[in-house]
Amino acid sequence: MRQEIRLTVKPKFINDYKSGFPLLTKEAISNWKDVNSEGTVVKLVDNNHKFIAKGYYGKQNKGYGWVLSRNDNESFDQSFFQRKISAAIEHRKRYYNNPDTTAFRVFNGEGDGIGGVTIEYFDGYYLIHWYNKGIYQFKDEIIQSLQTIADYKAIYQKKRFATDGKYIDEDDFVTGKKGQFPIFVKENGVQFAIYLNEGAMVGVFLDQREVRKAIREKYAKGKTVLNTFSYTGAFSVFAALGGAKKTTSVDLANRSLSKTIEQFSINKIDYEAQDIIVEDVFHYFKYAGKKNLTFDMVILDPPSFARSKKHTFSAAKDYTDLLKETIAITADDGIIVASTNCSSFGMKKFKSMIEKAFKEVNGRFKYIEEYSLPSDFKTIKSFPEGNYLKVVFIQKIKG
Ligand code: SAH
Repeated sequence: MRQEIRLTVKPKFINDYKSGFPLLTKEAISNWKDVNSEGTVVKLVDNNHKFIAKGYYGKQNKGYGWVLSRNDNESFDQSFFQRKISAAIEHRKRYYNNPDTTAFRVFNGEGDGIGGVTIEYFDGYYLIHWYNKGIYQFKDEIIQSLQTIADYKAIYQKKRFATDGKYIDEDDFVTGKKGQFPIFVKENGVQFAIYLNEGAMVGVFLDQREVRKAIREKYAKGKTVLNTFSYTGAFSVFAALGGAKKTTSVDLANRSLSKTIEQFSINKIDYEAQDIIVEDVFHYFKYAGKKNLTFDMVILDPPSFARSKKHTFSAAKDYTDLLKETIAITADDGIIVASTNCSSFGMKKFKSMIEKAFKEVNGRFKYIEEYSLPSDFKTIKSFPEGNYLKVVFIQKIKG
C-alpha cells in the first residue's frame, strides 16, 4: 500500500476542487508540511475532515501535484491507470486510422485524467514524458498498462523533472525493440525525421499541426517567409511545400542547421534554395532592419523563456517588444503568425500585447484567424491553463 496523507483544503479553494480543478497548489492547502515524499497519495478534506478528492504529491513548475479522482474508494493501481489510458486511446481512434498523419498525442495529462504525464505516438513508437517525480513513482503501473493495451514497436520516455536539465540516460529506452533513429513519421502527408534518443525535443512539436497545415494551404503561396525560433524548420517545410517563394529559418542552436537541412531533404525540397541561419533572432532583426529586408510572412514561435548570451526572453514580459521588431520587417499587407505556448496568460492578454505593439509603432492591423490546441491535445474546462497554445494570424495593414 502506498502511503496516504490527508491534506486540508483552505475554505476558499474548496469549491474549485469540488468543481473539477485538478492542480494541487501551494496556497490551497494548509498542511503541506505533512507530506514529504513525492508520489504520496493525498486525500483532500475540508476542515471537518470531509472528503473532497484524492491525488498525488509531485512538484513541477505548475504546482504541487494533481487530483486523480473524486471517489474516496478509488485506489491508484494498475487497473485505474489502464482505464484512463484505454479511454484516451479510444478518444484518438481516428488518428490511429489516418495514414497521412502518423504522429499525435495519445494522452494529454490532466486533460485525460492524470496530470503530470503525457504520451505521444510516432508511427508505432510510444513516448512518455514524466513531468514530476511523483507521477514517476507510478511508472510501473503506467508502463504496464500501455504495454497491455497498445500495439507498439517500442516505448521510450523523457524524465522532464531532471532538474539540471540534463539527461543522464540519453537513450531513454524503456521496452520493445530499439528503434533505428531517425524514424520517419508523417503529418498531413509531410515527413518528419524523429529522434527519440536525443533528449527532450524529438524533432517536432505536434501541437502546431493545424497551424502548419493552414500555412501550407492558405498562406504560403508565392510569399517570402521568415520563420524565427525555427528549431527543425517545421513551419518552413510546410511553407515551402505550400509554394513559398523562399523561406528563411533562424534559430540560435547549432543543431538547427543540420536538422532543418534534413527536414527539407526528406521532403524533396532543395535546401540550398532556402536560407537557414544559425543566429540569435534579436540580432537577426537588427541585421534585417539595417538592410531594409521585409518579408510577406513572419512566423514567431518563441519558447516561453529563453536565455541567450545577450538576451533573456520571457513571453509574458517581452512578447510586445518582439512583435514591434517583427512589424518593422513585415511587408505591407503581410502576415504575422504570432504564437505562444506560455500558460501563464490567456488569449485575451495575448491579444492585448498584440494591440499594444501595433499601437506603439503607430501601425494598423487586422486579425485574420486564431488557433489553439488540436483535439488530440485534450483539455478540460475546469483547467483553462491546460489549453496553453495561442496562435493568431495577423495582417499588417498599410498606412
Ligand atoms: N517554432 C519551432 C519550435 C521552437 S522551439 C517549431 O515549430 O518547431 C524553441 C527554439 O527557439 C529552439 O530551437 C531554440 O534553440 C530557439 N531559440 C531560443 N532563443 C533563441 C534566440 N534568442 N534566437 C534564436 N533562436 C532561439
